[in-house]
Amino acid sequence: MYVPELFPDWSDKTILIVEDEEIIRIFFDGALKVTKAKLLFAENGYEGIKIALSNESIDCILMDIRMPILDGYEAIKSIKAAKPGLPVIVQTAYALSHDRKKAYEAGCDEYISKPVRIEVLYSVLAKYLGNYTTGG
Ligand SMILES: [Mg+2]
Repeated sequence: MYVPELFPDWSDKTILIVEDEEIIRIFFDGALKVTKAKLLFAENGYEGIKIALSNESIDCILMDIRMPILDGYEAIKSIKAAKPGLPVIVQTAYALSHDRKKAYEAGCDEYISKPVRIEVLYSVLAKYLGNYTTGG
């Protein structure tokens, strides 16, 4: 796995990852390990809402769209209704313009496409979690 020489230190940050596919949860776990961020995982939109609304320490959410039980659009609407200031970054393979539009209409702050490039993931998260610092 590609790990840049400089990476962010998010040891005081908590990121909630809402994603139904295990392989992608494993990808995020690996990609974000070096940042030392605390990671929470939910496997569908319903679980994502429950965790987001019950945990005050979450700084940012990475949200899939296509999930069983409750999709990302509905999860974003519920989370933003309760916590409008909590950043939600959509990450989805369905990078079609109407999906993007629907995601922004639901209230997401950013939209990134799968497969997610680590540099893109870090730079988008850095907008909400703080600037890059020298690690390692
Ligand atoms: Mg999915």
